[in-house]
Amino acid sequence: MQPKDTTHNESYKGFSNRACPFFPCHQGVRREFNCLFCYCPLIAYECPGPYRLYTDRNGLVRKDCSDCRLPHDGYAASWSFIQKWLKRPRIWSGRAQHQPYATARRRDP
Ligand code: SF4
Repeated sequence: MQPKDTTHNESYKGFSNRACPFFPCHQGVRREFNCLFCYCPLIAYECPGPYRLYTDRNGLVRKDCSDCRLPHDGYAASWSFIQKWLKRPRIWSGRAQHQPYATARRRDP
């Protein structure tokens, strides 16, 4: 049992840092803007987000997540999204996104 399982207080699921000079860093968020996953836990894993690719100054291919709202749109919704995709993480292949996030569904056994 985790400490979060013993409370009805769900404030651990998110917060908005309106004092951040980059707030809001992603456009189109309709619910509470969740800053908890500012550094997305899925950055090194396969994910359903609409990322693009770019090559950094060291020649490494990385995700550009500018258009992704999944870890930011609503405290409860983004918390659930991250928990679901971290259940069985798969290391990111480094390839371009090939599955539109609207149709990507994590298949649990
Ligand atoms: S595309 Fe979205 S879900 Fe995927 S790593 Fe980037 S921010 Fe996270």
